[in-house]
Amino acid sequence: MPTLAKGYAATDASKPLTPFTFERRDPKDDDVVISVKYCGVCHSDIHQARNEWGNAVYPMVPGHEIAGIVTAVGSKVTKFRVGDHVGVGCFVDSCVGCATRDLDNEQYLPGVVFTYNAVEADGKTATQGGYSDSIVVKEGYVLSIPDNLPLDASAPLLCAGVTLYSPLRHWKAGPGKKVAIIGMGGLGHLGVKIGAAMGAEVTVLSQSLSKKEDGLKLGATEYYATSDASTFEKLAGTFDLIINTVSAPVDWNAYLNLLKVNGTMVLLGIPEQAIAVHAFSLIPGRRSLAGSMIGSIKETQEMLDFCGQHDIVSEIETIKIQDVNEAYERVLKSDVRYRFVIDMASIA
Ligand code: NAP
Ligand code: ZN
Repeated sequence: MPTLAKGYAATDASKPLTPFTFERRDPKDDDVVISVKYCGVCHSDIHQARNEWGNAVYPMVPGHEIAGIVTAVGSKVTKFRVGDHVGVGCFVDSCVGCATRDLDNEQYLPGVVFTYNAVEADGKTATQGGYSDSIVVKEGYVLSIPDNLPLDASAPLLCAGVTLYSPLRHWKAGPGKKVAIIGMGGLGHLGVKIGAAMGAEVTVLSQSLSKKEDGLKLGATEYYATSDASTFEKLAGTFDLIINTVSAPVDWNAYLNLLKVNGTMVLLGIPEQAIAVHAFSLIPGRRSLAGSMIGSIKETQEMLDFCGQHDIVSEIETIKIQDVNEAYERVLKSDVRYRFVIDMASIA
């Protein structure tokens, strides 16, 4: 008999999330059954619950920053045991229809199966995410959370953490590199911590100076308000790498001008609207505009181990699941320090 899971689901783009009971599959030989203890609230959950990317399928249980404890394993599972602290991130399968499983780039494979708002490898079952009390996931897509990290504050590492770690590594953030992070929200604040731990000099570009003290404490060396036009004059030609985490439309041309020659701006934030980029924003400095999406399973484990070594976790505000709709409104107002995490004990 499949297990009944209790969760919260979006049922329509304009309605609040409401309680929802659904089936989790019986574990197969290679499956891990996880009791979800905490789940982060990512801005992507809001975009998708409200159908801002145009691909929503309802009912949708969001949540891809999952931290929990293993309660059962299939007979062929070798990496995990009952009681282990584990995480699940943005995808739960990847090789469906693909000739090979590219372990360094699974998230970019056409067969990637996202943790929610997608269809499982069987081609018919809707995936449902971590705003729920349990989840069943193939062993190869389950991550080990280092024992020295608390489960609640580790949950956001599963999406926000790896989404920053991956481009910081790929574009070689480290000693001697000047990195700017645009937006100090859930993604951005982890970018500051991880970038600083990698040895880069990190600057935050935020709408105001209201979070400056926090930013400097988390590891930034400089913090500027983008509402002040002089910021863009002062910082012209400064950065090797700019990581843009802003969820809303902003003028990318103004930020591209802050890159050094050969610098790169990486887009992580996903506004609904298209944004025009002028050729002159790129050509004079041989600048690049790039994108990056989460990270592979291998890279996610590498990130968790890195965070374990450097004692990096998210700054969190824990909420009950009953308060998730209010939390969404607060995220939209940038009123979160710096990630909401749902305590799943509240669902009982
Ligand atoms: P978040 O916590 O809401 O942070 C976004 C930050 O952007 C805010 O804290 C704010 O920072 C800044 N911001 C918001 N509205 C702005 C505006 N109108 N103008 C300028 N700055 C603004 O969201 P998040 O969870 O970090 O996610 C950020 C974006 O990344 C979302 O679009 C999400 O879907 C996307 N995402 C992408 C990936 C990926 O793989 N590429 C993964 C996860 C999430 P300040 O207050 O400091 O200005
Ligand atoms: Zn996310």
